[in-house]
Amino acid sequence: KLYNQVQDLKGNIRVYCRVRPFLGGHSNRPSTVDRIDEGNMSIMTPSKYGKEGRKSFKFNKVFGPSATQGEVFSDTQPLIRSVLDGYNVCIFAYGQTGSGKTYTMSGPTELTEDTLGVNYRALSDLFILSQQRKQTVSYDISVQMLEIYNDQIRDLLLTDSNNRRYPFLFPSVFLYFLLYYEALSVLHVLNCSQNGINVPEACLVPVSSTSDVINLMNLGQKNRAVSSTAMNDRSSRSHSCLTVHVQGKDLTSGATLRGCMHLVDLAGSERVDKSEVIGDRLKEAQHINKSLSALGDVISSLALRNAHVPYRNSKLTQLLQDSLGGQAKTLMFVHISPEPEALGETLSTLKFAERVS
Ligand code: ADP
Ligand code: MG
Repeated sequence: KLYNQVQDLKGNIRVYCRVRPFLGGHSNRPSTVDRIDEGNMSIMTPSKYGKEGRKSFKFNKVFGPSATQGEVFSDTQPLIRSVLDGYNVCIFAYGQTGSGKTYTMSGPTELTEDTLGVNYRALSDLFILSQQRKQTVSYDISVQMLEIYNDQIRDLLLTDSNNRRYPFLFPSVFLYFLLYYEALSVLHVLNCSQNGINVPEACLVPVSSTSDVINLMNLGQKNRAVSSTAMNDRSSRSHSCLTVHVQGKDLTSGATLRGCMHLVDLAGSERVDKSEVIGDRLKEAQHINKSLSALGDVISSLALRNAHVPYRNSKLTQLLQDSLGGQAKTLMFVHISPEPEALGETLSTLKFAERVS
């Protein structure tokens, strides 16, 4: 029995690689990705990086530059089904800024039916499947959308109308308002939640159709953009997490089940040159570094079946704790840019992938 559990654990972590196409009609440029064959791919390393030649990497699956959003999602679909059966699921997009994380999870800025990302497709599947089961199980589906920036959690679905933490405004204390608001909008993770909702302060919005979801994601995007200044696109330096809570009630027995799915668009994994960044930018970089390695540590200790899993080392892993390990299923999309200039980052991304698979 123990053997089966161990097998399950290993089987519950999958790592897929996705190689972005060249952008802006540069498809005839030479790519660092030299060969793709099912789960294998190889990278050309010029002499600058040691011995010139090929380096090979193995994944559960590799999606080349011509893979469509539909193809990428089709291998994710079984995970979605398991959420309705009461499993917890985490899907991550990892990679340097510009490698296609947001494209995979949400899609491009101008969305069409064909370019919808994993988030929309996952929710749309949940709606379709829950409808199919409606004779036997009644499902409630609701979402939260959070951002983790500098190891602090913020609500991306907060609006004036559902804002419960808005401080009362006196003109005389207006100057305090911004400080106050910043402090009050930081949310906390519960250690053990009874209903599976471990950030109870964050808005939890019921959804029943894909258009509900599209509206909420637009709101989340807007809120995320507000927090970045013109100089400073915060979205590449914060993690965003769309969490879908599913509660099912068996219509004959009355038993309830809960499943939850986290769809995480991680902060850019690129290393910043410490000699070049100072102040806030350095602090951001350190937080990103720390949280991505904490995530790597958690997943690799799950993959290695270590007895101790270091969840407490970052807000990100605390937030996802009950959806990483145990019976939960994890899928990591590792993103690669094809440009030779990106080779250094590509190799470091692949190193991360090797560690977690
Ligand atoms: P990231 O979120 O990792 O910073 P983006 O998802 O924003 O990267 O992608 C960078 C650019 O590349 C965007 O303009 C995006 O539309 C485009 N892009 C990324 N992946 C693909 C893809 N598979 N096919 C076509 N365009 C893509
Ligand atoms: Mg992005």
